[in-house]
Amino acid sequence: MNDEHRTSEQFRCGYVAILGEPNVGKSTLMNGLLNQKISIVTPRPQTTRHRILGILSTAEYQILFLDTPGMIQPKYLLQEVMMERATTALEDADIVVYMIDATRPTGLDRAGSDAVAANVLTRVRASAKPAFLVINKIDLVEKGALLPVMKAFAERELFREIHPISALTSDGTRELLAALAKELPLHPPLYPLDIVSEQNERFFVSEIIREKIFERYQQEIPYSTTVDIREFKEREGAGQSGESVKWFISADIYVERDSQKAILIGKKGAALKEIGTRARKDIEEFLQHPVFLELYVKVRPKWREDKEWLARLGYTS
Ligand code: GDP
Ligand code: MG
Repeated sequence: MNDEHRTSEQFRCGYVAILGEPNVGKSTLMNGLLNQKISIVTPRPQTTRHRILGILSTAEYQILFLDTPGMIQPKYLLQEVMMERATTALEDADIVVYMIDATRPTGLDRAGSDAVAANVLTRVRASAKPAFLVINKIDLVEKGALLPVMKAFAERELFREIHPISALTSDGTRELLAALAKELPLHPPLYPLDIVSEQNERFFVSEIIREKIFERYQQEIPYSTTVDIREFKEREGAGQSGESVKWFISADIYVERDSQKAILIGKKGAALKEIGTRARKDIEEFLQHPVFLELYVKVRPKWREDKEWLARLGYTS
């Protein structure tokens, strides 16, 4: 009785936006903290197009993570949309986490040679929100190399705390989490305590397929690709030998040109088959159920410039 009372009075809940340039490790950190693969992670920049909400609940607090697309200069409509989403995340946040990569720290140069980082840091300062600097990938650098970076940022008095971490090995992430939790506003939970995301299974399935394409192709193909789940059928019952009946998933992979379609399909469909096999394994692990995955490649010229299409795919409202 006493305990319950105390818990509801002292519960903390709020939004934490994870900002930073592409590829610094934002999705890796969130996935690691949530102990689940919520956001896709690939070695190539800008795989995150959506603003993803990951939810971390304990008995004392609930953190709503906004994992944002990397901050970049808009070159085409999709990038503009991404910049807008990142800006919204900053507006929604109670706490800001700004992440840099220890192997190539940016944002140190006030003269503006890295204009994107400077732009973001200006926005963070203007927001006047509690901000934490996270220096990620410390597993890749000498300890001594971190000190000048930490000192330079400390002098700017923008960040409340500086946390060197490795999102990959979880070094320092527990301390970061504790620091974030202390800073959360006193508020009852905004979501049920047993869910980790507000995105549906369809969304994750499309992200897994997109991830496999990102992993396999360089250059323009991944950025010209989007995935639309056309059918997602959960089937009940068991097969003849007692095994679960596979769920049926059919997805359309859209590219912008015929040449890209040919590459994705490959010789006698070999490339597409490989992507399908890899995606299916991860999808089955995610859904905890066997699936039959059907993939089609379709061409839709200039979809990235098409407002209606971006809305349909959920990139804009
Ligand atoms: P995002 O674009 O900021 O979301 O970055 P991702 O989370 O997709 O990570 C980009 C790449 O950096 C991936 O290849 C990750 O495996 C890698 N990465 C992320 N965190 C770490 C880390 O702490 N150490 C190392 N060595 N690699 C990392
Ligand atoms: Mg990401």
